[in-house]
Amino acid sequence: MSNRTACIPSILYLLLVILLISGCNLPASNSPPVQPVMDETQVANIPSSASIATPDAAQITPAPHQSILPPSDLPEVSLDIELFYTERWMRIHQIVDIKNTSSDSWTEVVFHVPINYTPGSFMLDTVKVVLGDVVQEGTPPLFGQETILRVPLPAPAQSGEPIHIEMSYRVVFQPVASTDWPPTGTTGWTEYLIQAGEWYPSLVPYMEGDGWYTWRYHPVGDPTFYPLTNVSTTITTEQDVIIASGGLIDQEDGIWHFRVEAARGIAFLASPHYQVAEREHGDILLSSYYLPDHAEAGKVALEIAENAIKLFSELYGPYPYKSLTIAENGFFGGMEYSEMISITDYCYRTYRGEPNSILTALVAHETAHQWWYGAVGNDQITEPWLDEALAFYSELLYFEYYYPDYTQWWWEKRVDIYNPYGPVDATIYSYERSDYFIPSMYGQAARFIRELRKQMGDADFFEFLQDYQATYRWRCVTAQDFFDTVRRHHDGDLAPLLKAYFANTNW
Ligand SMILES: [Zn+2]
Repeated sequence: MSNRTACIPSILYLLLVILLISGCNLPASNSPPVQPVMDETQVANIPSSASIATPDAAQITPAPHQSILPPSDLPEVSLDIELFYTERWMRIHQIVDIKNTSSDSWTEVVFHVPINYTPGSFMLDTVKVVLGDVVQEGTPPLFGQETILRVPLPAPAQSGEPIHIEMSYRVVFQPVASTDWPPTGTTGWTEYLIQAGEWYPSLVPYMEGDGWYTWRYHPVGDPTFYPLTNVSTTITTEQDVIIASGGLIDQEDGIWHFRVEAARGIAFLASPHYQVAEREHGDILLSSYYLPDHAEAGKVALEIAENAIKLFSELYGPYPYKSLTIAENGFFGGMEYSEMISITDYCYRTYRGEPNSILTALVAHETAHQWWYGAVGNDQITEPWLDEALAFYSELLYFEYYYPDYTQWWWEKRVDIYNPYGPVDATIYSYERSDYFIPSMYGQAARFIRELRKQMGDADFFEFLQDYQATYRWRCVTAQDFFDTVRRHHDGDLAPLLKAYFANTNW
């Protein structure tokens, strides 16, 4: 609503003026959208193998496990959002209630704020910490493009002690091009929608004895590693704006409530143009949000997601969550969040009713992430292959089961055409750009899984997947866990396979 202008604090006006003066221009909302490219033209632009660095084994540092916490001990996160859709910014009050579940004493609580990597996007206003009877107020520094926010505690928090943190901050959305690869395009605005993928300060994992696990932000792949939290979200916005997110509880008069338990990360997309298709699969609510020109693809996306849930529940284990929302986005990629996936509008615009579509592949892939990333977590910075190998290979499993005539098409169009090269166990730091990293690492990972399956045989391979999922559900895995589980189902020599696909072969 236009009268929301009155709500913009004068400090934000000042900031916008400074940004504009300093040359950070926001294009007019009627800028023509850039056409994405994803076919032979784009493939021709994929860099040659020579430009991909090969990581050495020393670069790969397996992350320790996150211990299993019963749901009652998971941190509670509450996000109260005022979204000014027309003005493309939001004001947030975030509450985090976390108990020190380690045996160490804590002097700080640490968050990852990836949106601060994009200049002019994140303004932290106040942080309040309550520890016992002590209340501390202040604003910890977050300089430049730093993405690690350290909130000091007024006194050390001992084992078992609850900590209450409240933050107030603002997020200004930046324009996103339909050709942006993740993670660049995950948060921002297009002519038709706002995507809020990575914008809130998220707890980083705490490693018993080692402290909070932090990393240098690098805009390649999914540069995140999150522990489980229960997240309740309230979004207040213009009445005509539709919000797509996981775990919808209710919505009325522009106020939307969501809750996702045991979430790795939550996101939402917003648009006054969204149309919605819904269906229930058992107890799971499936919703598809799409732009009006893409109704057929939007409805098909719902079917693909449902079929994917059916198949992967059989292959991996029960679906881990209560809902799944599929939302058409406006950048060049798909992205997984808890109970939500976002799919590039390229898939919708190019959908012609054929099963061998990029829409089928991507919806299956992102749905598979609810198991691999969601239920079974991993360090996506140093061991991104652990979730991506299985999510990407799930695309093939989907075609193999539902459209077996198209498995060859899948290998050709999703893997071989990119001439993938390089080790499966690359870190995101091994690559300069996502459009180098994704085709190479994912393609190699799919070939590795194909060879592993061939060596193990189908019966043992699928038993391994079930066992791996059941053993590590709600935990974080390392490559060691992956290969330990493989070895429980296979006593053959893995050395040749590791030598062919991995930089570090000591598993
Ligand atoms: Zn993926």
